Amino acid sequence: CGIVAYIGYREACPIIIKGLRRLEYRGYDSAGVALLNGALNVYKKKGKVQELENFIAEKDTHAHIGMGHTRWATHGEPNDSNAHPHYSTSERIAIIHNGIIENYAALKTHLQKQGHVFHSDTDTEVFVNLIEEIQKQNSCSLEEAVRLALHEVVGAYAIVVLSKDDPNQLIAARKGSPLVIGIGKDEFFLASDATPIIEYTNEVVYVNDYEIVVIRDGKLDIRSKEDVQQTPYIQKLELEL
Ligand code: GLU
Repeated sequence: CGIVAYIGYREACPIIIKGLRRLEYRGYDSAGVALLNGALNVYKKKGKVQELENFIAEKDTHAHIGMGHTRWATHGEPNDSNAHPHYSTSERIAIIHNGIIENYAALKTHLQKQGHVFHSDTDTEVFVNLIEEIQKQNSCSLEEAVRLALHEVVGAYAIVVLSKDDPNQLIAARKGSPLVIGIGKDEFFLASDATPIIEYTNEVVYVNDYEIVVIRDGKLDIRSKEDVQQTPYIQKLELEL
């Protein structure tokens, strides 16, 4: 339901938590974060963002890259394991997802045959394992694996993907679910709408359907599903805080 991600020089976790709170108006049943700091740590809880905050209070949340999600369950009941983010089987890749993957059941059967193990009832966990399988089979970059995976999923999505193997990179994509990029000075934000972003920057790019966003080493690259580089249309927001 709600997405917030950060990459830059500040501590990611407080920005993400605050952003999730700003998206609370959308309604949700669980919340979670993934933080990349050498390790890729995922913390998630059924219930309000406050429950997630209580849960992570004693955890190591230090990171400059991370993402958070509030879930509105469509596949699988609201509980801790169905909450996002979801890991791939190797636990090297994590995803957050808004939307629905309609062909998840067929993909899941196929992936299980290839040895992927599932810990949730969500369509989302299928998506991240598909990315992992494609990356393994093609020995390609994560970006390429995400791009190829988008050709196989049917449905609606806004996603953000993180990998332990790419410690300085955020990948996002959308089709049918909103996604906004906030461009700061030496930092970037991603969110379902601009409300979590406006306190840090007023420069935003609204991602279009079928676009893939790669933020790596302080640079923003937007490509079509056919891998053609797009020119970002940067808008200046004038919103009240
Ligand atoms: N379909 C996914 C799930 O049930 C994502 C739901 C959402 O948009 O929050 O977990």
